[in-house]
Amino acid sequence: MKIICIGRNYLQHINELNNKKPENPLFFLKPETAIQPKGHPFFIPDYSNDIHYEIELVLKINKVGKHIEEQFAHKYFSEIGIGIDFTARDIQEKCKKEGLPWEPAKGFDGSAQISTKFIDKKNLKLNSINFKLKKNNVTVQDGNSKDMIFSFNKIISFISKYYTLKIGDLIYTGTPSGVGKVNKNDKLTGYLNNEEILSVDIK
Ligand code: MG
Repeated sequence: MKIICIGRNYLQHINELNNKKPENPLFFLKPETAIQPKGHPFFIPDYSNDIHYEIELVLKINKVGKHIEEQFAHKYFSEIGIGIDFTARDIQEKCKKEGLPWEPAKGFDGSAQISTKFIDKKNLKLNSINFKLKKNNVTVQDGNSKDMIFSFNKIISFISKYYTLKIGDLIYTGTPSGVGKVNKNDKLTGYLNNEEILSVDIK
């Protein structure tokens, strides 16, 4: 399986990092080994002094597809969860400045946190899904799918021009504003429509 992540999909987050609004979905990959086994703490790697959390809605692909038209894209996912796209912001800034790939900043072990539960999309209003992240019980990110620049269907359609989507692939759909640094002994909890479905201790 592969993990595809969308960057710059919420305007307020683009602004907080002084990035440009993209014309098309911007995407990058994380390897399968980025997924943290459930219940494990996240260990801050020794090569970064600025690991950021990014809470995101995550689509689980349930059908193989290539060149998927936007109008049919909804048939390729049935469940939505949340995840954290952990980012070594200091390394990413260096990569951006030097025009280098982002993988060292984005694809390291544990960088793809995933919720313990995925919700059937039949039980969700796709254009109004609330999701949030608390750090030590204080809300730090509060997003809603209505604020996405590129919709789920647009993202699937666009990515599938380049990559064949396979069953079990995960698509992280971008983070809202409020990203920030994690420190040792922090506890992060993630919520989809107010239900806690993700929890990780930082070590
Ligand atoms: Mg992200």
